[in-house]
Amino acid sequence: MVTLQVNKLIDFVADVFVHADSSPEEARRIATYLTTANLTGHDSHGVIRVPVYVRWRNSGMIIPNQTIEVPVDTPSLAVVDGRFGYGQTVGPQAVKIGIEKCKATGLAAVSTRNSGHIGRIGDWAEMAAAEGLISIHFVNAAGSVLVAPYGGVERRLSTAPYCVGIPRPGLPPVVLDFATSIVAEGKVLVASRGGKKLPEGALIDLDGTLSEDPAVLYGPHEANGPRDHSKGSGAIRAFGEHKGSGLALMCELLGGALTGNGATKPNRPFANGMFAIYVDPKRIDPANFFDGEVTRYIDYFKDTKPAAGVDSVLIPGDKEAMTRADRTKNGVPLPDETWSAIVQTAREVGVSEAAITKATA
Ligand code: NAD
Repeated sequence: MVTLQVNKLIDFVADVFVHADSSPEEARRIATYLTTANLTGHDSHGVIRVPVYVRWRNSGMIIPNQTIEVPVDTPSLAVVDGRFGYGQTVGPQAVKIGIEKCKATGLAAVSTRNSGHIGRIGDWAEMAAAEGLISIHFVNAAGSVLVAPYGGVERRLSTAPYCVGIPRPGLPPVVLDFATSIVAEGKVLVASRGGKKLPEGALIDLDGTLSEDPAVLYGPHEANGPRDHSKGSGAIRAFGEHKGSGLALMCELLGGALTGNGATKPNRPFANGMFAIYVDPKRIDPANFFDGEVTRYIDYFKDTKPAAGVDSVLIPGDKEAMTRADRTKNGVPLPDETWSAIVQTAREVGVSEAAITKATA
């Protein structure tokens, strides 16, 4: 395990993307969002993605320094076409449009298609919450057919994340943010690179056998080599039986079909689609009952005797806030395999040995 200080990790990852043709601004944005995923405990969406992002850029699947298009623009609605730019470039612009429209009208929707990987969806809910706005995000990952629906064994869905953010004045927002599969694909990636093991039965093989072995998804793979989910025969399972599988379907239909990103199908380039709804609680609630009621209810919700083995009941966002505080202070831990795959990519794009040494010094 290596542990990197946050600023050094951001500087290093930014250097990789500058060497991969991103502007210094874009490179720093990518590095900051990826590191934030690690900071919040979502290592699956953190710097472990560096090798795959660079591979996508090398193959032309992702375009550095891309400008977005906004083909539909009304006072309360926008359609954003990311034109396969980095998600860390497309995402903030799409969310900014939603925030501006919502502040003007009280309610807005932004439909985003053809975005590179937009990472941890909680980032976008936090961005809206920082402006006092509620947001709801239905997302699909077209081209990434990985998840078996309830009752099936074959891949039909992406890991299609769903996210809701609720602002709280003076406190971190409540952010529910998860893949609609038992685990996000990145968690399989982390497990395959020596990180946290998968929960029991997270995967299903073609013959219906439940498994925790990443090889079910990636096929046999070298420790330092690439992970290719087209090589495995099995699937990740949708979470929550028929209910989770149904929510995943809605993410495909709204984040995929409605946005124009396309609901997930095989043999097409990866792209995230996101249908996001923004609500200004102050417009709904001029009498100002919402904030007080959120506080009262969360206190009531948490004030239950914990079940055996549980310290206390948490709300969505608590775990991320705790991990962020810890890792900001103590650094970001990365399994050796993850770090060596990142370093290998850094060397491939021409990052200097001095910069590699400096990152861990
Ligand atoms: P997860 O299973 O870790 O669940 C996270 C959610 O559960 C958070 O809201 C967290 O606050 C809450 N939570 C965790 N422990 C809790 C507890 N003990 N009590 C109460 N609440 C608790 O998340 P995941 O499904 O592994 O997803 C990880 C990340 O991957 C997310 O940020 C998601 O947006 C992202 N993702 C992105 C894509 C993409 O295509 N861009 C695809 C899939 C997932």
